[in-house]
Amino acid sequence: MLIHRDIRPLSLLPVLLVVLIGTSCVATRPNEPAPTATSDSPREAPPPFPPPAPEVAEPRDPARTWIVLLGTGTPGSEPDRFGPATAIVADGNAYLIDAGPGVVRRAAAASIVSGLAALYPTNVRVAFFTHLHSDHTLGYPDLILSPWVLGRSEPLRVYGPPGVAAMTTALLEAYREDIRARVEGPERLRRDHLAVQARDVMPGLIFDDGILQVDAFAVPHGTPDRAYGFKLTTADRTIVMSGDSGPFDGLAAVATGADVLIHEAYGAEGLRDRDAEIQRYHASEHTSAIKVGQIASEAGVGMVILTHQLHLGGETEDALVDQVRLSFDGEVAYGRDLDVF
Ligand SMILES: [Zn+2]
Ligand SMILES: [Zn+2]
Repeated sequence: MLIHRDIRPLSLLPVLLVVLIGTSCVATRPNEPAPTATSDSPREAPPPFPPPAPEVAEPRDPARTWIVLLGTGTPGSEPDRFGPATAIVADGNAYLIDAGPGVVRRAAAASIVSGLAALYPTNVRVAFFTHLHSDHTLGYPDLILSPWVLGRSEPLRVYGPPGVAAMTTALLEAYREDIRARVEGPERLRRDHLAVQARDVMPGLIFDDGILQVDAFAVPHGTPDRAYGFKLTTADRTIVMSGDSGPFDGLAAVATGADVLIHEAYGAEGLRDRDAEIQRYHASEHTSAIKVGQIASEAGVGMVILTHQLHLGGETEDALVDQVRLSFDGEVAYGRDLDVF
């Protein structure tokens, strides 16, 4: 304390001046050109602002069915992996499976980088939920509201396990003041354009619009009978999605002959180092990459795409892929956000 008593604010002034002078070379006044790099002060040019728009990809063949991973994350806040969301694009229409955090921005990004205009947020009008865990639904209010603000005028059609209709009603109520302000305030948005047709569905055929047929099947995860996987069938592809699922032997029968199996996975080796409770939870509620390989092999699927990956022991991406390949000799993709298949 005695030492600190002698340090008065003014006594720090020379130190502050030295610090400020020392750092002033990186600051510029408004309207001054940015400093250029010299041999004794190598420096990269400042990034342009606003950043240039991403390059628009060539339009994809509309006759093909495309799988676009919008978010491959988990509840973990990994910066490069947004919340779980997958899009199927067929015949110029987008179909969304789950709506994790960031889904609307990821859909906008995907519409640019994939060249699939169907993914622009106002064009996404059909969504299916595998289950109602928050990591899969935190983007749902975003999906309801943001595209409406951007101009969506047609109803959003939503299908999910029991509870999704009640969740929809609750979300619209939660955002009542926002909706009122945008309808009655200067924006003058049309309330009738904010229509959400949400339906609780049971396992079985839940959707068929002549382009995409969706069959839901129950998987072991969370509340019993409240988590689904989906078999998605179009004219040219059959895709099976596990959703979040514990090891499920019945999946091999559902996925038999499918072109693509999109499956969640955790690293089997890493789990062995975790405590007993975590081991118990993951062994019953999620599926190891080794088991994914066994299911894929038994089903004889064309390829496996891993998503919702959990690296429990810090295992590498390659390690998870290798674990699938222990049993499955087809193509295995480690899914990343904005990948297109
Ligand atoms: Zn999840
Ligand atoms: Zn879950």
